[in-house]
Amino acid sequence: MNDKPSYKKLITKRQKLIEQLGKFPPVLRGSLRLHGNICGTPHCRCKDPKKPKLHGPYHYLSHRYDNKTQTIFLTKKKLHHAQVWIENYKRLIKTIYEISEINFKLLRYHHDKLEPSDEEKSGRKKQI
Ligand SMILES: [Zn+2]
Repeated sequence: MNDKPSYKKLITKRQKLIEQLGKFPPVLRGSLRLHGNICGTPHCRCKDPKKPKLHGPYHYLSHRYDNKTQTIFLTKKKLHHAQVWIENYKRLIKTIYEISEINFKLLRYHHDKLEPSDEEKSGRKKQI
């Protein structure tokens, strides 16, 4: 691995990644679960005290937002979309991590080429 990547390479890569962000497909943050269910029917096999046989297993999606976790039942159609959107979400996060890594390298190796801050431009602060 090259320790000091070129400025131009980093900027070009970052531009590409930012463009990807702009046209990102739908994303979903959540986890898929598969588990059996107990129904509301009295004396059903799912409530057998000796050998309960649960219904399903069924697919569910757990989604946490604002400190609340909500879970929904997934039909085949919903499951398909949830799977695709969760994969998209993972790719989106990976893209953000990559952009962040590039920005880290820019700060580390190419800070001399970065735009001066407003303070620097106005000359109110002396260079450190
Ligand atoms: Zn049942």
